[in-house]
Amino acid sequence: MIEKLAHPLGALSRPLGSLAQSVRTLARPLEGLTDMLFPQVCVVCRKTLDALEQQLCSACLTDFAPFPNPLAGGQAVIRSVNFHFGLGAIPSAAWSLYPYQSNGALHDALHAMKYQGLFPLGCLFGRRLGELVQSAGGPGELAAIVPVPLHPLKRIERSYNQSEAIASGMAEVLDLPVVEDAIERSAYTGSQTGLGITERRKNMAGGFRPAARNSRQISGRVLLVDDVLTTGATMVAAASALREAGADEVAFAVVAVTEEKV
Ligand SMILES: [Zn+2]
Repeated sequence: MIEKLAHPLGALSRPLGSLAQSVRTLARPLEGLTDMLFPQVCVVCRKTLDALEQQLCSACLTDFAPFPNPLAGGQAVIRSVNFHFGLGAIPSAAWSLYPYQSNGALHDALHAMKYQGLFPLGCLFGRRLGELVQSAGGPGELAAIVPVPLHPLKRIERSYNQSEAIASGMAEVLDLPVVEDAIERSAYTGSQTGLGITERRKNMAGGFRPAARNSRQISGRVLLVDDVLTTGATMVAAASALREAGADEVAFAVVAVTEEKV
C-alpha cells in the first residue's frame, strides 16, 4: 500500500520541485519589492536606511559619542571596577566603545538590542567592539570569548541573550571561538545598592558558577563580554567563576560603561 502511494507522491514531487524552483527564481526581484514595501529603518529614529547602513543610521551612530580614543573606554572600565571592587578585581585588559547615557540614541539602541531580540544589532555592536580591540593594539593571546550568561528564566522570557549576539560579532572580527556554556547563573542576587566592597563581593560570589557541563575546557586568557558595565558587579562575579572554571586571566569588553567621576 505504501509502495502504491509512493508512486503518485513521487510524481507529485516533480511539479512541487519546479514550483520551489520558480519561487526561488521569483525571490530575487521580490527581495527588492519587500525592501520597497517594508524598507529597512534605523532601530532608533526609524529613518529609512541607505544601502550602506545596517540597523542604525549614520546620524544616530554619531549621536552615540564614542570615547575619544581606543584606550579611553577600557580605562573607564578599570576605573569603575576599581572604584566599586578594589584593585584585586581589575581585569587583565578592558575595552569599551561608549560612555553610557541614561537617555538618548545610545540608550534607545541598547534597550532595543536587549528587549526586542535584535540579534543583528548585537552583532553590529560586537563587530565595532572587535574593531576597537584591534585598533587598541589587538587582544593579545586570547583563548576564547565568553558572553555573560542570562539567568535561564530571563533567557526564556527574552528569547535571546544580547551578550551572545555581541560575542558573535566580536568573534567574526577577532576570529576567536565563542564559548557560551563555560559558566552559568547560580541564583538571583539582590540589589547591590548601599553595600560596601566586601559585602558586594560576597553578595555576587554566588551569582555565577562554572557550568556543570561545558562544550569546551576553559584555559588561558579569556575575553568576557557584556552590553553595559554599571558598577562591574556582574562582570567581576562572572570573571571569578571563569577563573574557577580554568581561565588564567580574564579581560573585559563591554559596549558601554557608566563612567565614575573619580
Ligand atoms: Zn537613526
